[in-house]
Amino acid sequence: MNAQIITIGEELLIGQTIDTNSAWIAEELNLLGIKVTKITSISDKKEQIIETLDINSNEANLVIITGGLGPTNDDITKHTLAEYFDSELVLNEEVLEDVKRIIGARGANMLELNINQAMVPDKCKVLRNPKGTAAGMWFEKGDCVIISLPGVPFEMKAILTQVGFPQIRQKFKTPFILHKSVHTTGIPESQLADILKDWEANLPEKVNLAYLPSPGDIKLRLDISGENEVELHEILDAEIEKLQHLIPDAIFGYDNDTIEAVVGKLLLINGLTISTAESCTGGRIANILTSISGSSRYYKGSVVAYSNEVKQEQLDVNASDLEKYGAVSEQVARQMAEGVLKKLKTDIGIATTGVAGPTGGSEDKPVGTIWIAVASKKQTFAIKKVFGNSRLRNIQNSSSFALNFLRKLLTENQL
Ligand code: AMP
Ligand code: MG
Repeated sequence: MNAQIITIGEELLIGQTIDTNSAWIAEELNLLGIKVTKITSISDKKEQIIETLDINSNEANLVIITGGLGPTNDDITKHTLAEYFDSELVLNEEVLEDVKRIIGARGANMLELNINQAMVPDKCKVLRNPKGTAAGMWFEKGDCVIISLPGVPFEMKAILTQVGFPQIRQKFKTPFILHKSVHTTGIPESQLADILKDWEANLPEKVNLAYLPSPGDIKLRLDISGENEVELHEILDAEIEKLQHLIPDAIFGYDNDTIEAVVGKLLLINGLTISTAESCTGGRIANILTSISGSSRYYKGSVVAYSNEVKQEQLDVNASDLEKYGAVSEQVARQMAEGVLKKLKTDIGIATTGVAGPTGGSEDKPVGTIWIAVASKKQTFAIKKVFGNSRLRNIQNSSSFALNFLRKLLTENQL
């Protein structure tokens, strides 16, 4: 079972629009267990569309086309497909209904151009578009299914997700596929791979593992396919349990979880408020925490204490400790967290101080050294971590690491 993707649009070939449709479709098809063997981008030209379609439909079981379904003259995919499949354009009442609903919701009047969008080739099965006026079309040519979709990414995704993929699964009897993502932070990718190498080597043959790193987060994606859904769940759950024992502190969530959402939920459940005192992270933790809607229920504010004066004057960090231990030290991190908690009258204060680099390192405090402290009214905890040489990565990783440290303390009811 293999698929090919054709993206149509002049804008793709002049570099004005980046072809994100292919990447998304390819990822989704792979998750369905369908291998993508070719991706082609072509212009809105009839000969080119027909030529590409001829080749692809001979090579693949499934061809997905995006683009060229707009109401304007430059979009010719529908007419070309009608001709290719020797098909007449006929009015489809369901599509007309969708077009009327969408145009009505936009407060616009129906134009001739809009009514034309409800005209579809009589030899296709319509894939209704919940988000726009251009319907998707499903054709069959011998053993090959050809699906044509609008180029607008959110419309294309809505059609495939709601009607396209379920029908593809049914038609090609693809096996049941299960995915589970495990989010980790604080352990660099190579180190993580080393810790997990035995576990990885002993994974059941059916299970595929991918490391998907992004700033501050390495996602481990486990995929499994087979016939028996219950059995697949059991296999993946057992592997995830093993992971939890191998890297208990690094895992902060699963699937669509984010560290800020997980921490936010824990603060809410425990009825705790928090403030931030950030030196090397420069406000990034505040930014991450407040990206969650409703974070005002637990997040109060921040002191970006970059200079020693601000650390002393705004957070009551002791001048002699700054002198004696330096700004990047456990003592200063602790005092910053305790200082911001008092100053902003919150239950918890979290502080960062470190050498983001690439300059400013020393032998005992190399670039990438960071101290993180979390203070509650009961107790203050501090932890040191040494990251690498990239300033941006140090800031990103420190922020995620700090939030994960907070998560761990909250989970263990230590605050
Ligand atoms: P169309 O269906 O050709 O009218 O496409 C409408 C719009 O969708 C274009 O103007 C692009 O902004 C966007 N678009 C088309 N093809 C792609 C693609 N392959 N990837 C991302 N965006 C696209
Ligand atoms: Mg176009």
